[in-house]
Amino acid sequence: MTSATLEKARISDAPLLSVVGRGLAAPLIHGGTARYVNLDYAASAPAVEEVAAHLSEVLPYYASVHRGAGFASQVSTSLYENARQTVADFVGARPGDAVIFTRNTTDSLNLLAGCVESLLAAHGHREGVSNEHGEVLYLDIEHHANLLPWQALPHRTVVAGHTVESTLHRVETQLRAGNVVLLAVTGASNVTGEVLPVAELAALAHRHGARIVVDAAQLAPHRRLDIARDGIDYVAFSGHKLYAPFGAGVLVGRPDWLDAGRPHLAGGGAVKDVRLESVRWTGGPARHEAGSPNVLGAATLAKATEVLAALDPEDWHAHEQGLRAHLVAGLEALGGVTVHQLFADSSTYPGSGTIGVVNFSVEGYDAGLAAAYLSAEHGVGVRDGKFCAHPLLRRLGLASGSLRASVGVGSRREDADRLVAGVAALLRDGL
Ligand code: PLP
Repeated sequence: MTSATLEKARISDAPLLSVVGRGLAAPLIHGGTARYVNLDYAASAPAVEEVAAHLSEVLPYYASVHRGAGFASQVSTSLYENARQTVADFVGARPGDAVIFTRNTTDSLNLLAGCVESLLAAHGHREGVSNEHGEVLYLDIEHHANLLPWQALPHRTVVAGHTVESTLHRVETQLRAGNVVLLAVTGASNVTGEVLPVAELAALAHRHGARIVVDAAQLAPHRRLDIARDGIDYVAFSGHKLYAPFGAGVLVGRPDWLDAGRPHLAGGGAVKDVRLESVRWTGGPARHEAGSPNVLGAATLAKATEVLAALDPEDWHAHEQGLRAHLVAGLEALGGVTVHQLFADSSTYPGSGTIGVVNFSVEGYDAGLAAAYLSAEHGVGVRDGKFCAHPLLRRLGLASGSLRASVGVGSRREDADRLVAGVAALLRDGL
């Protein structure tokens, strides 16, 4: 895909309209002539055409993987196993890294947390979790998916900072204390889109004997990952934010903890041998993938990674950054709009920056009401609320929520203009 086609790279709106026509408020904008504008890519990004085509192509073949000898089973098995390799390539995995298919990022992080918890419970002396009081360190900006699984562990520390630099400094102070076995950080904030310098964080973690897991739910759809180069031990992301359908996510990373930790699900496919009172679990990805897997989810997620990997990184970046800058400038020019930011230095700190997300409030308007108005009157879908990041919203003084517009492949300049025009009309005319 070239930069010229980046704006068009999406499924046509026709199927979308036929679905919403079945009972949901149909977005008949300007008498049904204008397209509905989706500025909520950070929640779920619409499937790109290649992914939709791949889904239709493989749909007739899906069958039980691994255990069937029939042709359809062979096709499904090879689709599923090839998808692992494609995803491994996409993230720049090390040879031997495990690629485990899950339901989504939340599932992936819970899986890893289950492994860490079980290894620590085995007195911390197994498989490199060498500190029995080992704690997990995470930031207060995390999505609940990268916060609640760790909150359930006995030892944990939370770090907050107002700049990237101070955040790193605090992370290092905690790492120096010597009890941290795992640093769990988001690659990019789902609230403001600000990017964390994950390679620098990984280096810090390793310097102090800890590992790092990056929640890349927001980063992977916008930036090239290279976990081997950047020293990232584990990475998790979801298909539905990566231009693929719901229901599939992935956890990629070092196999030792994953092979020794508690199996994520108990059931068929995850075992070597079962007796009525006992079980011998298998290793490898199968250990955590009990039950019939989501073959179509894995295959379409892998296809989406191929589409993104084929983009020219500079065009991709310029497209999203240009749209974001246009949106921010348009909103700020209105007066009465505040754009929220986490870190004072995210635009200058090396390895940081912002993905295509703009978080804002409209003076005098509740975020939920403003979002409903923008959708109903202007045909623009934005997200409102607390973005599954309650501690951060509280810290930002936004306990009642804010608005989030997010763009990606397929977003257009006119989409940003529509939002700005809608907010301008709200400020001018009221509800
Ligand atoms: N992490 C981040 C940064 C997110 O933005 C999200 C979803 O918004 C998640 C994790 C959870 O993703 P999922 O709902 O696909 O598990």
